[in-house]
Amino acid sequence: MKEIAKLLDNNRIWAQNVEKNIPGFFSKLESQHKPKFLWIGCSDSRVPADQLIGVMPGEVFVHRNISNQVINTDINLMCVLQYAVDVLKVKHIIVCGHYGCGGIDAVLKDQTPGLLAHWLENVKDLMERNRTPNLDDMCELNVKLQVRNLALNSIVRKAWDRGRSLYLHGWIYSIANGLIHDLCITRGGRHQEPEHIDLKRAAKTD
Ligand SMILES: [Zn+2]
Repeated sequence: MKEIAKLLDNNRIWAQNVEKNIPGFFSKLESQHKPKFLWIGCSDSRVPADQLIGVMPGEVFVHRNISNQVINTDINLMCVLQYAVDVLKVKHIIVCGHYGCGGIDAVLKDQTPGLLAHWLENVKDLMERNRTPNLDDMCELNVKLQVRNLALNSIVRKAWDRGRSLYLHGWIYSIANGLIHDLCITRGGRHQEPEHIDLKRAAKTD
């Protein structure tokens, strides 16, 4: 149990340090929750949202799942999305994938165990439509697909119809160098219809 005790020790030290550097940080945070960003990322332990983008607690609302999927029948994500958009009124939704994603790799190798095969059906479909053997290309395509799914989502569309400033972003992170690459597919409204992307071509040109 030493490793668990270490985590709690780490927490105490972290809280002390934060309070020392920013006096009153926690009591201020207790009374407000106004993040501007919703992060939808992979569960991979090497891709922690807050640390990668250098923000403190309170700045980013986070949802993570295997291979950062946006599936409109996923009640967990839909609740997060609705709360983020309608209650917290975030301004930006970032889908951040990462190169070398284990979930995407498993699909490419046809080695998805049990439930994962079901979870990653959209990735499998994407792969079959594009026939790209390259893992990193597939990781990028996957982010593009998920941003497109968000752009078609009714929660997002209704917010746009109400005139809300709500932007969707597609990013990909490199575990090898710690840097995030913007895939430049930002969308900010219905007028920016998700084009029927030729995903194969998009992988080469974007
Ligand atoms: Zn991953």
